[in-house]
Amino acid sequence: MTSERPHEKTMGGEKTMAHPLSDALQWHIDNGVEMAIADAPINRMAPPVAKTIETPLKAMESPVLAMTPAAPVVTSGSFNTQRQKAIDAARAANTLEALVDAIRAYDGLDVKRTATNLVFADGLAGARVMVIGEAPGADEDRQGLPFVGVIGQLLDKMFDCIGLSRKSTDMAQGLYISNILNWRPPGNRTPTETEIALALPFIERHIALVRPHFIVLAGAVAAKGLLNMDQSISKLRGKFYDYTPQTAGITDGLEVTGGPIKVLPTYHPSFLLRTPLQKRKAWQDLLTLAKALQPQTP
Ligand code: URA
Repeated sequence: MTSERPHEKTMGGEKTMAHPLSDALQWHIDNGVEMAIADAPINRMAPPVAKTIETPLKAMESPVLAMTPAAPVVTSGSFNTQRQKAIDAARAANTLEALVDAIRAYDGLDVKRTATNLVFADGLAGARVMVIGEAPGADEDRQGLPFVGVIGQLLDKMFDCIGLSRKSTDMAQGLYISNILNWRPPGNRTPTETEIALALPFIERHIALVRPHFIVLAGAVAAKGLLNMDQSISKLRGKFYDYTPQTAGITDGLEVTGGPIKVLPTYHPSFLLRTPLQKRKAWQDLLTLAKALQPQTP
């Protein structure tokens, strides 16, 4: 049996006093644990007990729901209640500032509790092109801005090559960048299907507020989430799709002008860092975008 009292231990040939709890903490740190994700420990070896929350995603028939295993992340109220709260909060936001406040105030997503900063957007709101990724990573969480780490540097270089930059103040050359999820999932895990479904009203209102002409979806999570299509990113990438919001009434109260926003899925820069051979295809996708951005000759 493990004693919880301090005990002697030998380190480097010398006897010191140790405490089992500090040993356990050190063991977690050595194994890369960087944050607590709940107030109380979870015994994953315990037999399953009947859950009191509703099965999260029956309500939405979306391929997004098949992407990652369902996780009971909703802490207060059922999924349907939380989803309706997200829709109401998003629809009530008539400016980007109001949307930031609504996302900050929304309590249906547990990732909010473990993240350091809300990561909303960067670049030029109103630019012709909006890039949407998956979720912030550690660098983004620290700085409160999307795509600022190594992955973001690659993203910037890629768009630079076709004359687009988040630093530009010109609508034609500017870039506006955001993510489906505005909070970093602990340990950079992939967002769950529940999290994506709850974040969707916010990103769809975000799109409606900035109304880009083109949206580039970086990676499978963003592509499947916003296109509602159940195909792999390698099948979806490189082609334009008409954007249709999935949240009923999400453009309410906003002026909707012009034709449908064109959506171009492509590989995520983190995938390209791991698989440089695929950069060629991502480059083709960017050229497809560059061509579509050129003024049309009659
Ligand atoms: N990956 C993303 O999808 N978004 C970021 O902001 C950073 C990394």
